[in-house]
Order: sequence, then C-alpha cells, then structure tokens
Amino acid sequence: MSVIPRIVVLGGGFAGLTLCTKLDALAAEGRAQVTLVERTPSTGVGGLTQFVLKRQVHASDVPMKYGGGAALRCSNVRFLCDEVTEVNVKARWVRTRSETLNYDYLAIATGATFAPEVVPGLAASAYNICSLQDTLQFRDALDRFQGGRIVMSIPQFPYKCPPAPQEFILIVETLLREAGNGLREKTDLVFTTEADGPIPMTPFFKKRFEDYGIRIVAFAPVEEVKADKKMLVFGTGRDGNRAKPMSFDLLMAAFPLAAPSAFQNLCDASRLIPSDPRSMRTEWDGVWALGDCARMMLASGPMHPKAGGFAVVQAEALAQNIEALVRSGGKSDAGAENLGISKCDAEVGNNEAATVSINLMGGPTMMFELGPVTEEAVEDKLQWIRDSVEVWFKKKPKF
Ligand SMILES: Cc1cc2nc3c(=O)[nH]c(=O)nc-3n(C[C@H](O)[C@H](O)[C@H](O)COP(=O)(O)OP(=O)(O)OC[C@H]3O[C@@H](n4cnc5c(N)ncnc54)[C@H](O)[C@@H]3O)c2cc1C
Repeated sequence: MSVIPRIVVLGGGFAGLTLCTKLDALAAEGRAQVTLVERTPSTGVGGLTQFVLKRQVHASDVPMKYGGGAALRCSNVRFLCDEVTEVNVKARWVRTRSETLNYDYLAIATGATFAPEVVPGLAASAYNICSLQDTLQFRDALDRFQGGRIVMSIPQFPYKCPPAPQEFILIVETLLREAGNGLREKTDLVFTTEADGPIPMTPFFKKRFEDYGIRIVAFAPVEEVKADKKMLVFGTGRDGNRAKPMSFDLLMAAFPLAAPSAFQNLCDASRLIPSDPRSMRTEWDGVWALGDCARMMLASGPMHPKAGGFAVVQAEALAQNIEALVRSGGKSDAGAENLGISKCDAEVGNNEAATVSINLMGGPTMMFELGPVTEEAVEDKLQWIRDSVEVWFKKKPKF
C-alpha cells in the first residue's frame, strides 16, 4: 500500500458520485488520494425518461455536465473524464485510454450497459425505455399512432429499475386516453414479462392493469423478436408453458443488462460482476462492485434489484468502510452494510404515483409496502431526483 492510499472510483453515476461526495473530506485532509473516472462529460440521471415521455421535463435538461469535475461538490477528488478499457485486479491497476492508475482500493460503479443481442431481433424492433434517445423516438411514434397494439416487454431479467416498465405502460395508457378521438379504445395494450406479473407489488399493479384494460402475459421470456413480421416469440416460462407468439405495432422493452465490456473479464455468466450484497466485496482484495454493474444474490433467492436508490445506500455504506480502512491504516473497516432498504415513488398511471418502501434483506423474502396513491407523489419522485443531484452537484438542476 502507498503512504497515502489511492482510492479509484469507476463511474460517475448514482453510486460513484455518492461515494466520491462522501470520501471528499478524506481527500481534503490529505489522508487519501481519490480519483473518479467517468467516460462521459455529463450524467443522464435515470428516472427522468418517464418525465420526458410525458413532456414534463425537457430532454435537453436531463444531462448534468460534470464540467471536468468543477461542477461537482467533491472538489478534492480528482475527476478524470476518460474511458476505462482494462482492469487488472491482481496487479491492482486500471487502464484508461490516456493513463494507467494504480490503486489500493477500487470501487467499480460503472452501471450496466445493454445486451440486446441476448434476444435476437430485439435491438432492431424495440424502443429501449432506458435510453433517452429511444424514449424521444417512441414519443414521436406515439404522436403519429392511429391505433393497434402497443406492447411493453420485459424480455429477460435482470433489467434496470423494477417498476419502470410498469410505469411506462401505465403512462402510455394515460397519454392515449388524454389524446382523445377514441385512440385508447383503438389500442390494445399488452405487458409481457418473464416474471409472474407486474412487480414489485403484484396485487396492486395487477388490479391497476385490470382497471386500465392492460393485458398481462406472465411467465413469458422472449426468445426472439421477428423484426420483419413485428412478432414476439416466447420461450418456455417458469410455469412450464410457452405463450403464443404476439404481433405488435409498437414495442417498448426494458433491455437485458451487461457490465461494460472492459469489465467482462470480472463477470460471471450473468454478464455482471459478482459481489456480496451486504459488503459489496468482490473476490479480489480491495475491490468492491456496487450499483447496476454488480451481481448480488439475495439470501432469499433472487438477484438484488437495480435502482438508483439502492446504489446510493450501497455507496453510503461502502464510503464508511473505506474511510475506516484508511484511518486505521488498512486494519479494519467500519462494518457498515448495505441493508437493501430504500424508497421510491412509482408512477401508477392517471398522473398518480405511490411511494414504495422496500426492504430486501429484513425477512425471508423481499418486503414491499405501498403508500397512498396521490398526484403529489409524482412531484415527490421528481423532487427525489432533484435532491439526489443537489447532493452531488453545486448547481441546481434545470428540471
Ligand atoms: C427509465 C429509468 C427509470 C428509472 N427510475 C428510477 C427511479 O425512479 N428510482 C431509482 O432509484 N432508480 C431508477 N432507475 C435506475 C437507476 O437509474 C439506476 O439503477 C442507477 O443509475 C444505477 O446507478 P449506478 O451508479 O450503478 O450506475 P449509473 O448511474 O448508470 O452510472 C454509471 C456511470 O459509469 C460510467 N461508465 C460506464 N462504463 C465506463 C467506463 N468503461 N469507464 C468510465 N466510466 C464508465 C457511465 O458513463 C455512468 O455515468 C431508473 C432507470 C431507468 C433507465
């Protein structure tokens, strides 16, 4: 270990920015040298695309510029706008396009990119709801839409933000109704998922979908999308059945995930980096993986879901541990754990939302509690994103 420990954080999203903001004091005291590596000049905060779809937030207001690091509150952290191309966890270095960084502690928080190739035909046929660009294109297509079938699909797990696909189709339902001219009546809305129904709170969303006439096709992993025929072909579901192929006029999807390509040597078959859900430790000394790039299996069975709220609580716990390690000369961490406790406001259509309280590890299964359905909760969701951004950036967001 070097005299002043070198902490390298990869990725300036929910997890990386939270971690660097918390570690800034340590860097200010000269107790550690902290470097944040981020490949893009601005962050596009997840969770805003729903608001762009509804024209509540302007697309050009979504990116928050890092300003080469000058826009960030963690002013004692070195910001390197560069892409990581290689990581060597044995020799303890990270290579970017311009430099090689040696580290004592490495936090991998690069989020996940998409692996549409897992489902042949998906990229050519579907709008990716996690992409701002695709959301804008889908919004244009919806403006021109005269009726037919719109499908929202979760082809395969894992994907980003468990409630997002449910939110999208419920928002589309509202937009079609508000468009008038009987457009809603001329449209068949279908939600397909590999799971047993809408998540996270199945009974509530099931009822909501029923109330708004949205058909659910559950246990339906997508095997292939026939782009020329505009047809979804399903594989055998967990219930042992295979849903019938389904045609569509417009297809939205939550694309399957993969850690960015530079990290694939650290991944397992899930295409993500295995790490412990509580400590976020990987199998390599001094290396943690957190947020969307990590594959954390919960004791109750499923994979830890991916959301900004979870990335933040993981980063907060890890910051405590890294700080304790630095202050103790590498002897002990603070024993802080990710408990998987978070909250989010999920849109439920009709311009309403509900607060979902989530506890992933407090019992034998994940626990969800749903707050009242109100219009105010939609604004709360936007405010949560604004508040998150203000923790990391000096400037207020424009949205
Ligand atoms: C449509 C949508 C709605 C959502 N809604 C919500 C919500 O309401 N609430 C919620 O909690 N979450 C929501 N999420 C999920 C949330 O955005 C993600 O879970 C969260 O961003 C994950 O944080 P992260 O830090 O792991 O990754 P990210 O925030 O994706 O950040 C990763 C960063 O790493 C950088 N990077 C990647 N590869 C490299 C490389 N090779 N070199 C250098 N830098 C690299 C990327 O450019 C990126 O800036 C939503 C997501 C989507 C897509």
